[in-house]
Amino acid sequence: MMFRLLAPAVAAALLFGAGAASAAKAPPKGVELYAIECGKFPVPDADMFSDDGAYKGVQRTLIVPCYLIRHPKGDLVWDTGVPQSKQMLLDALKQLDLTPADIEFLSVSHSHFDHIGNAGLFAGSIWVVDPDERATAFSEAARKNAAQFAAYSALETSKARLIETPTLDLFGDKTVVIHQAPGHTPGHTILEVKLQDAGTVLLTGDLWHLAESRAAKRVPRFNFNRPDTLKSYEAAEALAAETKARVVREHVMEDFEAMPKFPAALK
Ligand SMILES: [Zn+2]
Repeated sequence: MMFRLLAPAVAAALLFGAGAASAAKAPPKGVELYAIECGKFPVPDADMFSDDGAYKGVQRTLIVPCYLIRHPKGDLVWDTGVPQSKQMLLDALKQLDLTPADIEFLSVSHSHFDHIGNAGLFAGSIWVVDPDERATAFSEAARKNAAQFAAYSALETSKARLIETPTLDLFGDKTVVIHQAPGHTPGHTILEVKLQDAGTVLLTGDLWHLAESRAAKRVPRFNFNRPDTLKSYEAAEALAAETKARVVREHVMEDFEAMPKFPAALK
């Protein structure tokens, strides 16, 4: 009898407890964008970031971000930082009561080491990737760079969703759309996120490394195809104008610092 009287209260407490503990794990009601610091790069001479010599002797500190996009139908991690930032990324996910196993989708703007650095953590996620970028990431040349390759080599057996058209609408509702933007690397991509209150945000990968690169249309010295890069600049500008987007130059400190401070999110 006693048990029967207590049981509903106990059950309610358990339900409430379980609900509270998994509040962050429950899918959000709308789309949320989290900016996570995944390292910083002090650059004593930014010359490599422009092939016209404009940055010779320029000093700058670049931010290395990771992003988490939460959607009612799943979570996407976009860019995974440098390998050294593994714990920062795991700690950030933990603050939201998440682990890599909870992340349904992984995508990186491109396979340079400061964007794919911890991608191996997400080998159980679906890797959304441009086929040219995937081929680059698993090329003989990439394999020779053993330390960098190790950070994402586990993706080789991941389930992949290939980006074979100019855009890929991840959840089918136009809120999270990956756009091909080749040039910096063969399969470089940028991400459009449509948020209910904050509007459209474009995460632009390595289209522009320094703040002034965008207006001056500067191309880094390490770049796969210059004409393609210039075409991608045009396409990104057109998309930004059309969607009235907030454009995030991913390595630019002021753009990162203008985002809500983690664990706050843009919604
Ligand atoms: Zn890059």
